Amino acid sequence: MDLSGRTALVTGAASGIGRATALALAEAGARVAVNHLDRAAEADEVVDRLRALGARAIACEADVSDGAQVGAMIDKVVAALDGIDILVNNAGIILERPFLDMDEADWDRVLGTDLKSVFLCCRAALPDMLARGGGCIVNVASELGYLGRAGYAAYTSAKAGVIGLTRSLAREFAPTIRVNAVAPGPVATAMLDPSLMSPEVIARETDIPLGRLGQPEEIAASVVFLASPLASFYCGQTLGPNGGALMT
Ligand code: NAD
Repeated sequence: MDLSGRTALVTGAASGIGRATALALAEAGARVAVNHLDRAAEADEVVDRLRALGARAIACEADVSDGAQVGAMIDKVVAALDGIDILVNNAGIILERPFLDMDEADWDRVLGTDLKSVFLCCRAALPDMLARGGGCIVNVASELGYLGRAGYAAYTSAKAGVIGLTRSLAREFAPTIRVNAVAPGPVATAMLDPSLMSPEVIARETDIPLGRLGQPEEIAASVVFLASPLASFYCGQTLGPNGGALMT
């Protein structure tokens, strides 16, 4: 995959899937902006790794659920890295809470970070992408957006919303901008309950034919594929790197 000459912005890229995606994009030759929220040291470490790969890279702090901060971030990235060709909406949080214990603030926090953020980042980045004559957006959803899960109503609603938003934007901005998503199964990152990490628990409590958690690099590979010319006929799709847990 050759992404040389392209600029990518990855949200939530100081850790996990976002970090792996930033590295994979740089390995493919892209310039990369590393968004983070209050994780400057980790973001700087990622930027150092990207520069060691020969990529132009910057860190950009912004709360992706805040429209003003998102607007300032997009302006900074466009000025520093000559525009945006690839936007990866990856930042997210998860909340486990019985439905009847969830208050409005819980709902707003999860929907704001996991769904409104995608609206805000797309709305802010699209004018520049359109002016440049093309680009790709890849949104990180979750297989739970299809499956649902007891105790995760806000998260699963947000991720289902990301899949719907992906399809609507794909239709509205095709053929200039290709918009797609990935919906990973369980991945070994800080987001996942550590009790799920042991092979015994995975075997007992999950139904993953490949018999293991995904690694961040395996999700990054799907994201980079969708952002690359190899995926030139993908539009509004949601890829499922999930070890076979959900076969669609
Ligand atoms: P992670 O916690 O390592 O990554 C999430 C990142 O988002 C963190 O760096 C965090 O600081 C950042 N973030 C949170 N709120 C933010 C905000 N308001 N503004 C900017 N950044 C913010 O976990 P991860 O597993 O790498 O998660 C990445 C994405 O993958 C998330 O959208 C998550 O829902 C999705 N996902 C994860 C799994 C999994 O099992 N780990 C499965 C399916 C989908």
